[in-house]
Parts: sequence; structure tokens; C-alpha cells
Amino acid sequence: MTLSASARLRTPEEIAVNAGADLPRLRLPDADVFAQRALRLRQLAAGHAMRDYLLLMAVVCEAQHARLAGYPAVPLPTVEQADAASQTGAPLLDTAQWPRAAAWKSELRALLAQVLDQLPADSPARAGVQALAQRDDTALEQQAERLLAGITLGLDMAAAPLIAAGLQLYWTHLVRASAQAVPNPYGYVQDATRCPCCGSLPTASVTRVGGDSEGFRYLHCALCNAEWHMVRIKCTHCLSTGGVRFRALQALADADQSTRRESVQAETCDTCQHYLKIVHMDRDLHVEPVADDLASLTLDLLVAEEGYQRHGVNFMLLFGDGDEGGEAAPPPPERGSA
Ligand SMILES: [Zn+2]
Ligand SMILES: [Zn+2]
Repeated sequence: MTLSASARLRTPEEIAVNAGADLPRLRLPDADVFAQRALRLRQLAAGHAMRDYLLLMAVVCEAQHARLAGYPAVPLPTVEQADAASQTGAPLLDTAQWPRAAAWKSELRALLAQVLDQLPADSPARAGVQALAQRDDTALEQQAERLLAGITLGLDMAAAPLIAAGLQLYWTHLVRASAQAVPNPYGYVQDATRCPCCGSLPTASVTRVGGDSEGFRYLHCALCNAEWHMVRIKCTHCLSTGGVRFRALQALADADQSTRRESVQAETCDTCQHYLKIVHMDRDLHVEPVADDLASLTLDLLVAEEGYQRHGVNFMLLFGDGDEGGEAAPPPPERGSA
């Protein structure tokens, strides 16, 4: 039996959504989100051309996990603020609007101290971590502004993944704690391409297995780790369904065991020329959107060569033209696959 083009575009998921089936629209971050990421980074690091960097980020994620459990109390939204946000269709904890609690900086410094505790004495990353821990509040706030606004000019590219780690920690706590403090804090939002909790871009999307999310695709927030539903085979940038294609590193996978084969694909759109990676739990149960996105940099290079631009961001590896880069900058592309 052959399927017509229009029939092929309707996945079981889409049919279920159109039929009004109940599915969780939003998945809040789990308490162990950073621990899961650290585990996956260590798994992916074995034999990987970016091994040292993946292991460094694993240490950062382990520190994030430890700090999240004991995060100090921060101001949370009121019921009135939640109502106002859902009436305007804006994310309640929009990074452009929500005033950051000062605690994010002291928690960042505590996180950096924890990272230093775990890094070997001869690690080349130590100097950068120490230098960042000594920067003053004003400098940290300036860097945070640029990071959250997606401005790479003037961004310290070497320190950015670490500053972002502190911001991820704060927003992940904020999103979880707000859900405890306010009933239904995350209502309808207008922009389906951004996180309904904090308004940030996704890092990647994930097709999930298990429970009531079985087979559904979610976009994973780069900042707060919330996941929001979007039907499959739909561009995450322009929401078109017409020109979506999937690319993987199959040819390279045979030669490079570190590549995630078909469990990681780039979903490209010929309508707007953007792409976002998608990771599939049904092909590899251990995929983690942020870790797998970082470890599949070769795929970014491949689709970039074909003229596609990334929709989304991975704070562990920013692309841009920052002018304060230091020696601890993220590593060059995977040499092994060149
Ligand atoms: Zn978010
Ligand atoms: Zn598009």
C-alpha cells in the first residue's frame, strides 16, 4: 500500500491531537534533569573528539544538580501576575520581563566553587572558572542580559556556558517553585516557537516514550528545561509543515561510533531555511536533548553547509562573534569526523 503525500504528513500523534485526545501540553523540569544530563554527557564522552569538553560540562551539570536541591527561596509570581500573563498570551516568567533575584549570582558563585572542587588540579579550565567567580555583580548582570537576549556582541564566549549554567539553575528552580506556589501558572502563550514558561528558545526537540507522553514530540527549553508539545513534522521556527525534511549522520556514523546514528536528526525546513535537532527516545532510551545536541556538532556543520540556520540555542556551545574570548573557549569542531 502506498500513502499519498497528505496522508504521510498526518502522524498518529497529529491525528490524536486533532481528535481532541488528552495529552500533557507542558512537561515541567524534573528534579533530576541536570543529573540525567551529566550522566548522558559522560556516556557520550567516551571516545568522542570533544571528550574533555563533554566531561567538563558533566561536572558543571553535576554541580547544577547539587545546587538545585537546596536552592534558596526567591520571589515567586502571584496569582494576579499569572492571570495577567495568560490573558496577554505571554510567558509568566519571560526572561525579558521577570526581575532576576540577586540569589542567582551568589548561587552561580557557589556553583563555580563546587565545579572547582571537582576539577583536577591540572585542568586547563580552572583559570577560567576562577576568573569568573571573581567578577563583580555588575559584570555578571551585563553578561546575563546579553546571554538571555541572544546578543553575542560583547559576550564573554569563554565564560558564557558557565554564566548560563547559573541562569539555567535559577530559572529551573523558579519554574518548578512557581508551579507549587500558583495554580496553573503556565497558561496559553501566543508564540509556539518559544518556551511557555520563560520565553526562551528550545535547544532541541525530543520524541518521548513512556506514560502519557508516549510518541509525542516536545521542544526542550534551553534555559528552564520545561518541555512543550508540538506535533511532529512541523517546522519549529515558522510552523510550516510543507518543506520539512530529516537529516542524520548515517554515513559518518559507520566510521565514528561516537555519533548518535539515527537517534539524533536535524529537522530542516525548506520554507524558512531553519533547522532544529530532534532526538528520539524510541531509538535510544538514554538520549537527552541538550547533551545529545552538544555531542552532535558535526550535524550542525553539515546542515549549515547546506544553508540552514539554527532555530534554538545550546548554552553549552554558543556560536557568535563575542569579542572577549579567552583561552577556555569551547573546543573546535570534532576533528575526528573532518
Ligand atoms: Zn523555559
Ligand atoms: Zn520553517
